[in-house]
Amino acid sequence: MIELERKPLTEMVAPVVEVIEETPTTRTLVFDISGYDFDFYPGQYVMLKVPYPPTGEELRRAYSIASSPLSKNRLELTVKRMEGGKASVLLTTQTKVGDRFFIKGPYGKFFWTEDMSQKVVLLGAGSGVVPLMSILRYIRDKGLSQVEATLLVSYTSYEEIIYRRELEELSKLPNMNIKITLTRSAPEDWKGYRGRINKDMILAEVPRLEENLYYLCGPPKFVEDMKELLLGLGVPKENIKTEKYG
Ligand SMILES: Cc1cc2nc3c(=O)[nH]c(=O)nc-3n(C[C@H](O)[C@H](O)[C@H](O)COP(=O)(O)OP(=O)(O)OC[C@H]3O[C@@H](n4cnc5c(N)ncnc54)[C@H](O)[C@@H]3O)c2cc1C
Repeated sequence: MIELERKPLTEMVAPVVEVIEETPTTRTLVFDISGYDFDFYPGQYVMLKVPYPPTGEELRRAYSIASSPLSKNRLELTVKRMEGGKASVLLTTQTKVGDRFFIKGPYGKFFWTEDMSQKVVLLGAGSGVVPLMSILRYIRDKGLSQVEATLLVSYTSYEEIIYRRELEELSKLPNMNIKITLTRSAPEDWKGYRGRINKDMILAEVPRLEENLYYLCGPPKFVEDMKELLLGLGVPKENIKTEKYG
């Protein structure tokens, strides 16, 4: 595989300029980074410093970048509230436009560029969709119509579908195959898959399994299960990249 140049680490102090309610538990925070020369590969993450007033601590948490690297002025992070969590509760309930945060990055080897493959399969669960969305947005915004991308993503319920409208729009592009599965509850008229991502779904949605690069992101158990499933289907382990949240 080709060696790609590392993107330089950048430290930023950036204001929140928009808060987007994605689902009842998930918000996207949009930061204005126009004062910085920040570059990254789609799929990478940043470290965010979150002041935590109840204890006076300064928490440091990793958040994948949701926006595309082509979006030079706006950096988007999508945070899902974890019950009992510190930073995620604060970021999804207290944070407002005008708040400023220290952000450092980019980090991580979980990224994709068109130099790496022309066929990519993205498997995500819940907020694990975030770095995968950055990859899809990059493919769309760069007009990489020769790249074939498949996204299979699971959410607990219809209400918890992160980026629902945009995923619907992306699925209209001829080079994108986007499929959602709902694991806990689904509306009666739901036309998508139900239950966890499984072998049958992968076989139905991904032709020529061995020709793709695979990106798996979500809770550790999800990532391990998906990796095992792919290996069992004969996908070479060098073709599988993983990012575990938690
Ligand atoms: C590379 C990477 C990228 C990530 N990207 C994203 C992203 O894009 N979006 C996103 O939403 N998250 C992402 N995460 C997860 C994120 O970094 C945080 O871990 C997450 O937001 C929870 O942080 P928190 O401070 O709210 O939870 P914490 O306070 O750290 O708690 C974590 C969990 O542990 C439980 N817990 C805490 N204390 C205890 C205790 N004493 N006993 C038992 N349980 C306890 C909490 O209930 C909670 O469920 C990413 C993680 C990694 C490693």
